Amino acid sequence: MYNIEIINCLSDNYSYICFNDNEAFVVDPSEYTPIKNFLLEKKLDLKFILNTHHHHDHIGGNRELKKDYDCKIIAPKKDEKNIPDVDIFVEQDNILNILDTSCQVFEVPGHTLGHIAFYFEALDAAFTGDTLFSLGCGRLFEGTPEMMWNSLLKIRSLPENTKIYCGHEYTLSNARFIASVVNNDSIEEKIKILERLRNSNGRSIPTLLSDEMDLNLFLKADNNEVARALGMEHANALDVFTRLRSLKDNF
Ligand SMILES: [Zn+2]
Repeated sequence: MYNIEIINCLSDNYSYICFNDNEAFVVDPSEYTPIKNFLLEKKLDLKFILNTHHHHDHIGGNRELKKDYDCKIIAPKKDEKNIPDVDIFVEQDNILNILDTSCQVFEVPGHTLGHIAFYFEALDAAFTGDTLFSLGCGRLFEGTPEMMWNSLLKIRSLPENTKIYCGHEYTLSNARFIASVVNNDSIEEKIKILERLRNSNGRSIPTLLSDEMDLNLFLKADNNEVARALGMEHANALDVFTRLRSLKDNF
């Protein structure tokens, strides 16, 4: 069984190092130095780099880490032209064996066209990059609202006890957005908890998929209460999702 260490990178990125006694893989190394420092401290050999998408704050450490460890880079097939030095391109439903642990690949376009998520059933963990955030979802830089909604439905179909490891610490501002749409006690309580947490530099990640299904409006665009809160009682889920995303873009 693997430990998962969360590494703070850049201003609000998270990279994730999964490791056993002597081997490791890293998900979305934003930058080289903090990853390298942890690997040295724990005397770990880095075997794989997993990239969810091509943005620089998710691949920035790739090249130097590969140079040091000769590790294999795994990245989306659809990002073939965007991510250099990749050894293994993957797509929907590919099953990888990473340090003797099975990993399922989901294509989750929307934030970018090639975005993927990695699901490790044995770890109860999904690495969702900039697709699903705690209490939010990624901006649509390349894809359509329909792509993103379908991507979120894929993630929503994972077991409820799945721990979600996402690319950024955006949870508090996401919670404030939710409170601007639906005002209820549970989101107000959540904001208080998050404010205390962030005041002491704590992390809100990982989050449980079941908690996200309760509170994250972007996973609830097919919920009547959410539609009603937006004055869209008879709209379909995609229209509700599209409205939510555009409200958040201007929040
Ligand atoms: Zn991104």
